[in-house]
Amino acid sequence: MHANTRALWHDRKDPMKVYGKPVDEQTRCVHYRTDKDIIAIKFRCCGKYYPCFRCHEECSDHAVKVWPEGQWQERAILCGVCRTELTIAEYRASSCCPSCSAEFNEACRNHAHLYFDVSSKDAVSERSDSRPRAEMASPMASAVWISPTITGTTIS
Ligand SMILES: [Zn+2]
Ligand SMILES: [Zn+2]
Ligand SMILES: [Zn+2]
Repeated sequence: MHANTRALWHDRKDPMKVYGKPVDEQTRCVHYRTDKDIIAIKFRCCGKYYPCFRCHEECSDHAVKVWPEGQWQERAILCGVCRTELTIAEYRASSCCPSCSAEFNEACRNHAHLYFDVSSKDAVSERSDSRPRAEMASPMASAVWISPTITGTTIS
């Protein structure tokens, strides 16, 4: 007899389940389904994989939280071709899957800010040099002009 020890309550729990509106097994969705759209992204807010931010927008009831740079070592990118989970840092450093060499869609980079906090990379400098200008009218040293009184005495 073969004993199936798998706990039933745990049966359907798949950490790599892709939510939203995927259209195939490689995580393409109704919004993005070119050959290269093969990754799903785990969202910081709910810890669930979605094929894209629009899937998240349409299928979740909350606003997206992006991954702060300090957490880019988290495995939050799923390659739909080989089902390998990459870290955000790995994904951002590659143009194709390090595991199966499937090419990533480079256009995704334009949307990076929707998933990851890239503000520190983009904002080169934020100097605020606008000090309120003190416009003091310097009081002119008022020269007191003392006109000499001319006392003319004519003696005849
Ligand atoms: Zn979410
Ligand atoms: Zn989508
Ligand atoms: Zn892969």
